[in-house]
Order: sequence, then structure tokens, then C-alpha cells
Amino acid sequence: MTIVGHLINGRTQTTAERTQPVYNPSTGEVSAQVALASRSTVEEAIAAAQAAFPAWRATPPIKRARIMFRFKELLEKNADRICELIGQEHGKIRHDAMGELQRGIENVEYACGAPELLKGEHSRNVGPDIDAWSEFQPLGVVAGITPFNFPAMVPLWMYPSALVCGNCFVLKPSERDPSSTLLIAQLLQEAGLPDGVMNVVNGDKEAVDTLLEDQRVQAVSFVGSTPIAEYIYSKASANGKRCQALGGAKNHAIVMPDADMDNAVNQLVGAAFGSSGERCMALSVAVAVGDAAADALISKMTEAMKNLKVGAYCDSDNDFGPVITREHQEKVIGHINSAEAQGATVVVDGRQPKVAGYENGFFVGGTLIDHVTPEMSSYRQEIFGPVLQVVRVKTMEEAMQLINDHEYGNGTCIFTRDGEAARYFTDHIQVGMVGINVPLPVPVAYHSFGGWKRSLFGDLHAYGPDSIRFYTRRKAITQRWPSAGVREGVEFSMPTMK
Ligand code: NAD
Repeated sequence: MTIVGHLINGRTQTTAERTQPVYNPSTGEVSAQVALASRSTVEEAIAAAQAAFPAWRATPPIKRARIMFRFKELLEKNADRICELIGQEHGKIRHDAMGELQRGIENVEYACGAPELLKGEHSRNVGPDIDAWSEFQPLGVVAGITPFNFPAMVPLWMYPSALVCGNCFVLKPSERDPSSTLLIAQLLQEAGLPDGVMNVVNGDKEAVDTLLEDQRVQAVSFVGSTPIAEYIYSKASANGKRCQALGGAKNHAIVMPDADMDNAVNQLVGAAFGSSGERCMALSVAVAVGDAAADALISKMTEAMKNLKVGAYCDSDNDFGPVITREHQEKVIGHINSAEAQGATVVVDGRQPKVAGYENGFFVGGTLIDHVTPEMSSYRQEIFGPVLQVVRVKTMEEAMQLINDHEYGNGTCIFTRDGEAARYFTDHIQVGMVGINVPLPVPVAYHSFGGWKRSLFGDLHAYGPDSIRFYTRRKAITQRWPSAGVREGVEFSMPTMK
């Protein structure tokens, strides 16, 4: 059986003391084994990155950027192979995997602008014969730890920016679907990256803890669930590392009485059930303002959901595939059961979908639940499955209060035709990424991505301009070249320009 190994110092390693099965969620069968790196394997990767750093740091940004241009071409050329691996191990349908990869490539395109992005700030004549500037220097060895739900895109949020800034990288991908992530890193190597600049170690908690404890690792980027994000942030910070840790979500869409209901329903269907709801920006709660809007929404959603097709990743006619594991399938179904037991109404029930030929796959069908209330555990917790819950409120203020009171603050959206209401919403909502009639307001690569509240621990967001700041350290330099013959006297007071 295939062993998915590591990429260390430019070479793929497949020997491992411990391994774990990787499943094909569409069939329920084991498709490979992933190597779980020991502490010493991770230390080997960190050492390779540390050794590669001096030469990489000295490489002109334009040369680093040229590797990214070649990398982008290789990603496009190998898109079919990459998306097949994503489908096999994650369960994503081809068109969705292609969308994920394209969003990842856009981060590579952003990194191609390194020479422009790394320009410092310069001030001439801040004093007599004195010039001052700030420059942005790389940190050294930096690490990334990523989740299963975007095995191509989320790692690409991190290392293209980190590398063009002059850092060396150690990536610890999700052990549940590691193959596409490893293939992409091999393509970067093929694009001409020097050995040791980019390393991938597969593994579990042992690998993560080694990265968090090793003094050579200067910064950690994490994306995953909130309890682990909080753990990573506290441990990395306690060990003196810079850290950004993006966590879970519960994204609400407010459906106003004046919304174009057909359009809102189309958008909600895609954003709630696409990728089986396993997106941190999936819309999982619709907050309908007024019973008339709620009734119209439920009736139109029920109609639209009759056409939803759940099935294996390899049939592009399907709308979405299985969830990631049997355990996760049971967890999602458990949330539907608990909502029902606590008084909600399951309007469309996806607990027992029939997928002919794939009876052992980890499928959950699209599910719509009405009369959900904020006290229910299915409302408070992230479900991360193809489940849309509807909460009924009387006013927009009540809807906004619900969102602001929720522990997560990743994404949100309002469906309305009222510009004044939309403007008020964007101004006052306590959420990091906001859509107006846009259900998945995932920022484009040249803006940065991040939630508020317990959806992000740290200050700087992922990718885009914030990533250039995250992966560099500011150095402020003040320089004087005195004019010939000018001598300054002794000065004991604080220098000023009075
Ligand atoms: P996860 O937290 O289980 O795993 C993420 C990473 O942490 C993996 O690499 C995993 O190996 C590692 N990990 C898991 N348990 C650990 C432990 N005890 N100690 C150290 N490391 C550990 O998340 P997941 O299930 O892979 O991904 C889904 C979650 O990620 C959802 O909560 C989703 O909302 C979130 N997510 C957030 C964003 C965002 O941008 N905010 C994006 C994608 C996914």
C-alpha cells in the first residue's frame, strides 16, 4: 500500500515508525497509509530549513518570485492530478476541487509580486544629513499547520508569501488527506526551489508539538478547529513565537423581508451544502427576519433541495460528496438528532441518503432544520456538515444581536435590497468577513482573510498584505553621512527637530 511520506531537504522520505490509514470517503475504503513523523524527523526538517536560510535570505526577491511564476505554471499543468487526489482523500467533487486549487493559485500569483511587496518605507532628511527607513527582513524558519478541508488552498495561503519574504518553511498538513499537499510541495521543488527551503512533515500531535517547542522555529501559522487553534496560540506564544491561529466558525446569513428570495435561496443552497458544508465560510445558519420571510425561505429551500445530488467525488454531476470520516458522519448526524430532540423541526432530512454503488461511503444528505433556537447545542457548536439551520427572529437588530453574541465571528452575510440596512450591518456586525448579497465573502488573494472573536487568535490575518507583515520583521534604520567639515557637539537631551 502507498505510504505518503515527508519532503525533507528536497527528498521524499517514506520510512516511518508509525503510520495511520488514509480513507477514500466516497467508498469508505483505506486508500493509503500516511507516515506520522517522530520528533527526530521533524527536527531533521527544521535543521534542513535552518541550513537553507542564509542563502535563501540573500537571494534577491525577484529570483524568489521567478520560482513562484514557474510554480504557478506547474500547478496549472498538474491540476487534474492534484484534483484527483483531493477527490480521493477529501471527497470533494472535481469542480469544487478545481475552485479550491484556483483560489490557492491566486495566492501564488500574489507572491509573484514579491519585489513590490517587500519595498520598505523611506524618509529623506529626517534631520540634518539624516535619512531614515524601515525594511522588512525575514524571520528564519517558520511553520504551518493545516486542516483537512482545503488540502491545497490553505497551505497555499501560507508558504508562497512566507517563502518570497525570504523565510524557510516546515509544513505539517492534515494527516487525513495528505497526498495533494505533498504533491504540490514536490511541484514547488520542481519549479527550482533550493533544497531545504520548503519541507513537509506529515504527522499528528507529536509533530505539531515539536514545531511549537523547537527554538529554531520563529513563527507558526495555524488553520483548524478553535480548541486546537487556542492550544497552538498559547503554546507558541509561551515559547516566544509569533503566531496566527485561525479557528472554527458558525456563519449566519440574515434574510431580510425585502430580499430577492429566489436569489437568496440559490446562494444559500450553494454556500450551505457545497463541499458538504466542510468550509469554514459555509453558511450554516439562516436568520429569517419575520415569519413571512421564514415561511417563504423554508418553502423555497425545500423545493430547491429536491434537486440536490450527493455522491462520489468522481461524478461531476454531483453537487457535493461525502464528509471526511465515519466518525465525522456520526457527529453531524448526532447534531441533527439533538436539534430534533431539543424541539427543532427537521424539514429536509439527510440522515440516511442513498448513494447507489457507494453504500459504505461517509455520506450525509442536505438537511434543513427550522425553528432552531440559540440555546440548542447544534446552534452553539460548529457542525461542519451539509446542514442549514433556520432561526426565526422579529427584527434585524435581533438578528444582529444573535450574530454578535455568538462565540465565533468568521463570516456572515445579509440578503437585502435595502442599502441603508446593509451599510448599518457592515458597520456594526462583530464578524471579520462580511457579504452583502454575497454568501461566501472569502477575500480575494490581495486582501487578507481572518475572523474575529474565537475564530482567530492573533492579530494579523492570513494571506494578502497581512501575510507580508506576518512573515517579516520590521527593522528601522537611521543613517547620517555628515557633510564634509560638519562636526556635531555633545548633546545630552533627547534628539528632536525643534
Ligand atoms: P483540526 O483542528 O482537527 O486539525 C487541524 C490541524 O491540527 C491538523 O494538522 C491536525 O493534525 C492538527 N491537530 C489536531 N489535533 C491536534 C492536537 N491535539 N494537538 C496538536 N495538533 C493537532 O481541524 P480539522 O478537522 O482538520 O479542520 C476543520 C476545522 O478547521 C473546522 O473547525 C474549520 O472551521 C476550521 N477551519 C478554519 C479555517 C479558517 O480560516 N478560520 C479554514 C479552514 C478550516
